[in-house]
Amino acid sequence: MKKWKSSQFNVSINVPEGGVVVRNLYTNNYILIRENTQLIDLLLNRQRPFLSDEPYTYELQRLGIVVEDGVEEYIKVDDFRNDIANSKERLDITILPTIDCNFRCVYCFENEGTKYMSEQDVSALIKYFSNTFKKYKSVYIQWFGGEPLLCKDLINYVMTNALQIADKNKTALVSGITTNGYELDLETYKMLCKNKCTWIQISVDGTRRTHNFQRPHKNDANSYDKIIKNLQSIRDNTNPGVCKIYYRVTLSKPILKHIDDILLFYKEEFSADKRFRLSLQPVMDWGGERIHDVRDELPSVKDTVDCLLKAADMGLLPIGHHTQSSSGLICESIRRNGIVVAPGNYIYKCPMAMYSKEDGDLYRSLIGRLGQDGQIYINDEFNAEWMRGKPFMGDKCHKCTYYAICHGNVTCPYSNKFSKENKNLCRKAIYDEFIPAEILNYYKIKKIDNVY
Ligand code: SF4
Ligand code: SF4
Repeated sequence: MKKWKSSQFNVSINVPEGGVVVRNLYTNNYILIRENTQLIDLLLNRQRPFLSDEPYTYELQRLGIVVEDGVEEYIKVDDFRNDIANSKERLDITILPTIDCNFRCVYCFENEGTKYMSEQDVSALIKYFSNTFKKYKSVYIQWFGGEPLLCKDLINYVMTNALQIADKNKTALVSGITTNGYELDLETYKMLCKNKCTWIQISVDGTRRTHNFQRPHKNDANSYDKIIKNLQSIRDNTNPGVCKIYYRVTLSKPILKHIDDILLFYKEEFSADKRFRLSLQPVMDWGGERIHDVRDELPSVKDTVDCLLKAADMGLLPIGHHTQSSSGLICESIRRNGIVVAPGNYIYKCPMAMYSKEDGDLYRSLIGRLGQDGQIYINDEFNAEWMRGKPFMGDKCHKCTYYAICHGNVTCPYSNKFSKENKNLCRKAIYDEFIPAEILNYYKIKKIDNVY
């Protein structure tokens, strides 16, 4: 008979109708135990191994809820992360066509910039694609900025060429874009979809009043109406396809006062269209000058959790930083083939670190440059430094329930290793509040198929 133990990455909650829901943070599987009190006892008592040959134990092993006694689970998390970081099959390119922006968001970490990619930059980038795509099974292009949709023609031109090169080399290619949504009119949406865009993240910070205050456009005092009209036009004039639209609300204290109206508006306008996904994210301190002015407005964890629960009461299941399984949280910067290309074809690892005031290219994540010949010149030692990291709390992280999603913060080398700010990086207290709330929401909204 085999000896088992409950996975270190299980988080469980009691549910109002009776029973327990267990979520495994490594596999992101959920089970609902209604009646089997013996199983509840075994799973909640993590330290105690148990003997079992029951068929359901093997099923629970498949779901990651139990593991064989003796397995060191943090090692599989490390292996998983290292496989992704060292993959030779996938190229991750984040392109910043400009660092200019048409907004002046109050909590933005970026400095005001004016640089754009030049024609020579673009031509070298396309040469680089021609030289490189053949080495990879898949290429993932993310558009970021500044505001990338200030450069629509450039995006269309680069993506059209990238798709042709990918087709020729039988390389899979997808793209995504983070935009403030102001320039996301119907034609632009169609252009992005034609270019294999699988996700668009736009930010709508609450009501007209809070959005226009928190995310002021440079010249338009009411950017909110334009963004909402853009989204309504997409909703009404195109069919949902593969492209998801993440409707991101950045929670600050002023926004919390209006959360009921915000959620109701989203529900009535967009929730029936399956391509839209609500994302509720608290304002985070990523550094930069502007955050100092609004530090008092960062919401508490409890405030944010209350918003999640309110959303669930309205039948909405917002996505958040913690709702994904561990693979979704592994930043491109720790991948050997993860690069950020900025105007001038400078190659960075992290778009936040670019603005760091620390001295030295390593700290600002500048690792090389793309030449006019389409060859990339990279400082391999700097690249390796961005891939290497130690868990923030050492061995304590290896034993932590949240290691499967947090990785001891190794997955964010900027905050873990290269930034002198934000030195309390352990999010255990935050996870302790967030994860049970997310499990409860999932239970309320989704049907859990694995019932015992
Ligand atoms: S940093 Fe904190 S939350 Fe993250 S794995 Fe380590 S102990 Fe857990
Ligand atoms: S290193 Fe950290 S800050 Fe930089 S892109 Fe990755 S997760 Fe974001």
